[in-house]
Amino acid sequence: VTIFVPRDSTALALGANETAAAIVREAKARGIDIKLVRNGSRGMFWLEPLVEVATDAGRIAFGPIEEHEVAGLFDAGFTTGKAEKQTHPKALGLTEEIPYLKKQERLQFVRVGITDPVSLDDYLAHEGYVGLKKAIAMEPAAIVQEVTDSGLRGRGGAAFPTGIKWKTVLGAEADQKYIACNADEGDSGTFSDRMVMEDDPFMLIEGMTIAGLAVNATEGYIYVRSEYPHSIANLNEAIVAANAAGYLGKNILGSGRTFNLQVRKAAGAYVCGEETAMLESIEGKRGLVRAKPPLPALQGLFGKPTVINNVISLSAVPLILSRGATFYKDFGMGRSRGTLPMQLAGNLKYGGLVEKAFGVTLRELLYDFGGGSESGRPIRAVQVGGPLGAYMPESLFDTPFDYEAFAAVASTVGHGGLVAFDDTVDMAKQARYAMHFCAVESCGKCTPCRIGSTRGVEVMDKIIANQNRPQQIHLLRDLCDVMVTGSLCAMGNMTPFPVLSALNHFPEDFGDQKLASA
Ligand code: SF4
Repeated sequence: VTIFVPRDSTALALGANETAAAIVREAKARGIDIKLVRNGSRGMFWLEPLVEVATDAGRIAFGPIEEHEVAGLFDAGFTTGKAEKQTHPKALGLTEEIPYLKKQERLQFVRVGITDPVSLDDYLAHEGYVGLKKAIAMEPAAIVQEVTDSGLRGRGGAAFPTGIKWKTVLGAEADQKYIACNADEGDSGTFSDRMVMEDDPFMLIEGMTIAGLAVNATEGYIYVRSEYPHSIANLNEAIVAANAAGYLGKNILGSGRTFNLQVRKAAGAYVCGEETAMLESIEGKRGLVRAKPPLPALQGLFGKPTVINNVISLSAVPLILSRGATFYKDFGMGRSRGTLPMQLAGNLKYGGLVEKAFGVTLRELLYDFGGGSESGRPIRAVQVGGPLGAYMPESLFDTPFDYEAFAAVASTVGHGGLVAFDDTVDMAKQARYAMHFCAVESCGKCTPCRIGSTRGVEVMDKIIANQNRPQQIHLLRDLCDVMVTGSLCAMGNMTPFPVLSALNHFPEDFGDQKLASA
């Protein structure tokens, strides 16, 4: 009988290794032959460690299962291979039928939680490398066209059309070009990049290899935040396997084409998620933002044309090639095509990963998936898109996930992370936090961000202490205006988003309703 226990960091943090060891011990003690697969997480974090067993009707889930509960599982027919015998109180039925999973549209995360992440055979058995096999027979321009036609836009936050970026790099004349994957996932409440790297690393590797073929780049770097040791380990293991099997390195699938890939461990600065600071860091320098132009597509890594994309953007590519641009484009709304893996975090009953086509509303995510607040109190605000994203009030919960619809209400989809707060949140303190975050994480290159954020903290302290509030709120708005228009990169440009959204949507927390909403 085959038993699955996740190796994803969330499951590990909740005791998955101990549960797995107890299963092996128990099986041995009872003389039962089992095959233990350390799969990725299904993304239902409140159920981790989620143990699954293969039965005659499909995989059945149990969770959360702690070490001390394992013997009870075995007593309750766990290893019989029969679905009708799974009567343990923590049995959840067929995994695929759990509503949280069933209601999703998993295109990219289709293998996540199902396969052994570092098994190339498992990847191949689940539509792995079908996209690369198609791409290898295509002209570079045709690959770029396919990605353009799919409507894929950068999932790291900027939402720039991926195909257009690739076209610029393809058209640039150079002796060397690069693919750089931004895996410095630093936004609060986000973990979709981590799940791809830990739970389906071959998908990212395949996507980057296709990108290399598309723009004639022969070298690639994955810049992974240092706080993700399991991502780094799984990627490195998968890279070795892909090289050994001819899917990576020299002479890919006998085509004579080359693409080498290596992982770079980031140094722990939020600003290194900004694409040009990331390039500096990969080059071994301090993570300072570069002025643009020149565009990295023309002069990027080591001064050469470089495709920079985020993990989710690059790992959408194998699917686009294997199923075709039209298949992908058929999901979504408006100019937001395909799906987005959304990450539910903060004060929610059911936190986890939800992949849905664009068009799903915040309310559906918060209540149909998230189950409302964990505290049981009303959800008052949701910050979407990381620490520089806007706080959205209840009146905006029906906004569909769509880049343009979010922009129309002065918000951003960002990297698809949601952090929910109940009605005990103090929005003035959240606004102060945004300024403080910027002050700590600013690279220091430009004045509006470096000095503005520090002044912003001081102003917020005065507002919170009720010192001359009308004047301070006026000053705060002025300061935000300078930061938005005068900063060199998104760090300074976007810090005013959470600050102003807090002020505009929750004026009562700033003391003076009339001035706050002016
Ligand atoms: Fe650096 Fe901030 Fe200026 Fe960006 S906005 S370049 S992080 S100082």
